Amino acid sequence: MQSRPSPASGQATRIIHNRRHKDSFGSPYSPVYNTTTYRFSDTASLEDVIEGRAQGNLYTRWGSNPSIRELEQGLADLESAEDALAFAAGMAAISATFFAHGRQGIVCVGDLYGGTQELLTNHIEPLGIPVTFLLQSEISQLHTALNTPGKLVYCESPANPTLDILDIHALAEQSHARGAVLAVDNTFATPINQRPLTLGADISIHSASKYLGGHSDLTAGAVMASAEMIHPIAQWRKNLGQILAPDTAALLSRSLRTLPVRIQQHNDNALAVAQAMSQHPAIKQVLYPGLPDFPGHSLARQQMNGYGGMLTIDIAGGKEQAAKVADNLQIFLLATSLGGVESLVSQPCVTSHHGISREERERHGITDGMLRLSVGLEDAHDLIADLQLALDQL
Ligand SMILES: *Cc1c(COP(=O)(O)O)cnc(C)c1O
Repeated sequence: MQSRPSPASGQATRIIHNRRHKDSFGSPYSPVYNTTTYRFSDTASLEDVIEGRAQGNLYTRWGSNPSIRELEQGLADLESAEDALAFAAGMAAISATFFAHGRQGIVCVGDLYGGTQELLTNHIEPLGIPVTFLLQSEISQLHTALNTPGKLVYCESPANPTLDILDIHALAEQSHARGAVLAVDNTFATPINQRPLTLGADISIHSASKYLGGHSDLTAGAVMASAEMIHPIAQWRKNLGQILAPDTAALLSRSLRTLPVRIQQHNDNALAVAQAMSQHPAIKQVLYPGLPDFPGHSLARQQMNGYGGMLTIDIAGGKEQAAKVADNLQIFLLATSLGGVESLVSQPCVTSHHGISREERERHGITDGMLRLSVGLEDAHDLIADLQLALDQL
């Protein structure tokens, strides 16, 4: 019999159909395996699994759970990775990666998510692990920072909240030349807009609480990489107990099926909002990788398939005026986080970057007048009208 060619070559088709379930009830999707353990028929078959002679599930915390494995196969496919691991939170994914690959030292390039910065400064460095922070403008010092082999280079692109773009391919080449591994937090871009592994990075990390989940209703994390990179991370996840619940895994698998279409709309809406805001006299600057005058625009065009749903506007009047705009908005919710169907607004100087001095914030290009927008899936004209009304009330 001739095998039929698979028509499932596109990302959107694959994420819906690749893990099609077959059971006697005809359900197209798997049930949720809400179980911690698995029954064996006899001791010999239990021993076969424990000693690796046979495949089988033993205990959910170790990652052996059909709902979790199915999610991980979907995550790996999204970024053309050999394998993926799902975690209880983005920070769990990041910390397990640091422990598995960063013990010789971690060199961070560009701006980092607040939680990652706190983990490195308050917990990783005091363990005696050398941590270096380089601004994007200090990238020429990377060579020196990688003075001993076996270090981990870590970055985010686009970064928070300036949307700075880093050249992932160049960073990978420089890291590899010095015997280092490159991990990229790909949360802002999503696998639809950017696939770090195909650009040369070794590890891609997500807070799945954001776009992958996409509805602000679940907390999870993900790591995508080669099997070789994944193996030690899985060991840390197992022994730190960072697995996510099977229920959450199934909910996240559900979300992934709409990821391509959601991200397309996030991209379109954010571009429309960015273009409208760049005309407004009360706004000093609009930071969005999709605008031709954005400093990282041409790099973003090279390494991304879309510019994402995040943008930052800088209100001319500074801190108080920006707060007034945030308070006047009616559709944009005043809330931290990002990546959900609903639009959110937050002011970095009072939220994510509150703990940092103004001088230090300015060194990172973060002003008090900045408002970070997570542009959701509402009608773009309503979002623009909401912003215009709030700005006109200044
Ligand atoms: C939210 C976020 C994290 C942390 O993820 P949690 O799921 O909240 O643990 C890490 N990196 C980035 C860029 C984020 O936005």
